[in-house]
Amino acid sequence: MDDFETMPVFGVDAILRDVHAQALGREEGEVADYIPELAKADPAPFGIAVATSRGRLHEIGDTRIPFTIQSVSKALTYCMALELVGRAEVLRRVGVEPSGDPFNAIEFDPLTRRPYNPMVNAGAIAIAGILRDVHGDGAFGAVLTRFSEAAGRPLAMNEAVYSSEAATGHRNRAIGHLLVGAGALAEPMDSALDLYFRQCSIEVTAADLAVMGATIAHLGDNPITGRQVFDVAAVRDTQAVMFTCGMYDYSGNWAFDVGVPAKSGVGGGILGVVNRQLGIGTYSPRLDRKGNSVRGVEAFRLLSAEMGLHSFDLTNPGSAFVDSFFAEMPRG
Ligand code: GLN
Repeated sequence: MDDFETMPVFGVDAILRDVHAQALGREEGEVADYIPELAKADPAPFGIAVATSRGRLHEIGDTRIPFTIQSVSKALTYCMALELVGRAEVLRRVGVEPSGDPFNAIEFDPLTRRPYNPMVNAGAIAIAGILRDVHGDGAFGAVLTRFSEAAGRPLAMNEAVYSSEAATGHRNRAIGHLLVGAGALAEPMDSALDLYFRQCSIEVTAADLAVMGATIAHLGDNPITGRQVFDVAAVRDTQAVMFTCGMYDYSGNWAFDVGVPAKSGVGGGILGVVNRQLGIGTYSPRLDRKGNSVRGVEAFRLLSAEMGLHSFDLTNPGSAFVDSFFAEMPRG
């Protein structure tokens, strides 16, 4: 190792401590309350985890507290659908255009009548329909297995959140009917909605989101388990849609400020991907008015600035730069 590699400017663990302390000061925002089960969440926990494409995990704060994955699941099921039926068929049912509308908007592309993109509810429900068409009753099992492989450990669904989502999801059912009308979802639509409610109710931790992100970053290969989880072409398309549409109607600001493909969920999680290099997972359940975790957004902004993670950051000449933060400090 040469001097550059053995003497980082500033180690990742010190950066994580600093970013966590700064973002912890953000105390505004509200825990999601559209279902009673989520309204019960403790607003206090805050964790940040970073997994490298070389299989190392760095964590600070509450990175092992389970919460429901919610809309972060949309990125992973999109990846699965691309693999299963191919890009053309997925595009026939769901577009790739940012909507600029809230995630639960009842809004469709006026020309094609398709959902704007797979990161809003309408698109994700249509994607759930594709997984149902291919896997039938085995669809949820396939999703749970794949999410578990991406996280590198067996995950489970939170039954109480699922029942609550299923019992109150009238708006999502309304979207389902419109999708059937537009030919983007097959009948019976209840099975696709049930899959959507279940996928949203899978429990993860910030550390899981980081490893899932690193799996995407590492060309679909989980860098900790060494297993190939996603197809490389699907991973490319998924990152593109995460970059343009992953943060709901904050996606433009996010691309401008943070500049990494990401997906957030109303459970308080955000999953970020630095292509070929890192996965980042944050958890803090207080949300801003657009449904993104306040501390999560702040943590990503700070991390991106500190480490030059923005995709178009001129100070980031590539992996050697990010690697310098992860080099071992010299001993003795
Ligand atoms: N289950 C939630 C819903 O369908 C997920 C939304 C989200 O995380 N944005 O409304």
